[in-house]
Amino acid sequence: VSSLAISGISELTTNDPTLGEGRLGRLHDAGIVIDEGRVAWVGPSARTPPADRHLPAAGRAVTPGFVDSHTHLVFAGERSAEFEARLAGTPYTGGGIAATVSATRAASTAELREHSAGLHLAMRRGGTTTVEAKSGYDLTVDGERRLCEVASELTEEVTFLGAHVVPDEYADDRDGYVELVGGAMLEACRDFVRWVDVFCESVAFTVDETRAIAQRAQSVGLGVRLHGNQLGHSGGVALAVELGAASVDHCTYLAASDVEALAHTDTVATLLPTADLFTRSPSADARALLDAGATVALATDCNPGTSYVTSMGLVLALAVASLSMTVDEALWSATRGGALALRRPDLGQLGLGAHGDLVVLDAPRAAHLAYRPGIDLAALVVKGGMTVAGGE
Ligand SMILES: [Zn+2]
Repeated sequence: VSSLAISGISELTTNDPTLGEGRLGRLHDAGIVIDEGRVAWVGPSARTPPADRHLPAAGRAVTPGFVDSHTHLVFAGERSAEFEARLAGTPYTGGGIAATVSATRAASTAELREHSAGLHLAMRRGGTTTVEAKSGYDLTVDGERRLCEVASELTEEVTFLGAHVVPDEYADDRDGYVELVGGAMLEACRDFVRWVDVFCESVAFTVDETRAIAQRAQSVGLGVRLHGNQLGHSGGVALAVELGAASVDHCTYLAASDVEALAHTDTVATLLPTADLFTRSPSADARALLDAGATVALATDCNPGTSYVTSMGLVLALAVASLSMTVDEALWSATRGGALALRRPDLGQLGLGAHGDLVVLDAPRAAHLAYRPGIDLAALVVKGGMTVAGGE
């Protein structure tokens, strides 16, 4: 592993307030050095120390790599017909998950590997350097294990989501399925995962069922993240805070008490604006969360039903447009916020000692991410000091 120096950075966002201006620790006309995969030096461009490899940024902006902390990366099939029908007036109720479960069960492991690797590559090319990936589209013991294993080949941040929905074959035995998820299925998956997730929603799992599964996972050392309050006031947010979850995701429907709880906890509120927009749901109240002092992350929710999106740049732009977030708030939430949602303080920032994960943007300022929505601005993507996309 060699060292990498980048100089001539017009605007460097570090997310380390001790290194530069404001909460985003911003420097102008800056340089950065990554050595042995970690940030080793940050300062004025003209003083950039020599390194094995030197890249002139030539007046372009650099940000930390995006941390996409909520994706359903491993699945087969596609649901464009359901998507079209829903946008023509059929409300989303979560029932379409069963279609992806059938397609995923029928797919070979090689097909799942190739498909998820393709999505992962698209994310990389868009500037995402860390991806969380959930299981949840098989819902059998061996099948969930297979999805967790495939996901673990792509990322360290794998989440067991056996409790995505109750599969058809357990429609008359919910308790039996909850017992299976927290028992044999969890046992089969735990070696591949850091996290457990439960879809805590009226169409999926109740608060009590969610608590039971999450506590079983906590007892074997897994961290908790929950889907909560996407389709209504599910109680998922309050439960996430009660359980000390790392993150509660969606938060589309929030009571004042939910906002208050999130403002006084380490549990991150992860917002998924593309899921809300493409289901024509209300937008999560990001302003209430931010103004109360809650920690907010942004993620793609990449999944074949409600948000078949791999671009964190698009998510960031839509958060600015539809959630009334400032550009800097959205950039922080898409990088540092995601890292905190994964309890990874070494990611989503470019302070000394942090992972050398960054994006050189084809733009002089990071604000172009929102200013030019839909344009892929990631000119070069670096992970641990190595170029992983762009730059050819
Ligand atoms: Zn999701």
